[in-house]
Amino acid sequence: MQKKRILILGGGFAGAYAARLLEKRLGHRADVELNLVSHENFVLFTPMLPKLRAAMWVSPTSCSL
Ligand SMILES: Cc1cc2nc3c(=O)[nH]c(=O)nc-3n(C[C@H](O)[C@H](O)[C@H](O)COP(=O)(O)OP(=O)(O)OC[C@H]3O[C@@H](n4cnc5c(N)ncnc54)[C@H](O)[C@@H]3O)c2cc1C
Repeated sequence: MQKKRILILGGGFAGAYAARLLEKRLGHRADVELNLVSHENFVLFTPMLPKLRAAMWVSPTSCSL
């Protein structure tokens, strides 16, 4: 059986969410192989960055990166 190979380049928002969705929809299929290529092994949740910075401003001792 020849597998269909899906390669997602980049593990940012688009890549991570595409991988999650495709895994959910196609993960059970033996004829599909899904791969994600990323520099990182984490997803940076960018909308949280300004809030984190603001929290550090208000209370620098109770919040660290
Ligand atoms: C501070 C901040 C706050 C934000 N707040 C919001 C918000 O509140 N709401 C909102 O909708 N958007 C927000 N955004 C914008 C949002 O983060 C971007 O729109 C979103 O991350 C874009 O997703 P993307 O997958 O296209 O790119 P990215 O998330 O940047 O992902 C690209 C990925 O590709 C990888 N990559 C690049 N080149 C290669 C390569 N050659 N090989 C392998 N991997 C590679 C990178 O390492 C990265 O992981 C914010 C952005 C910032 C910086």
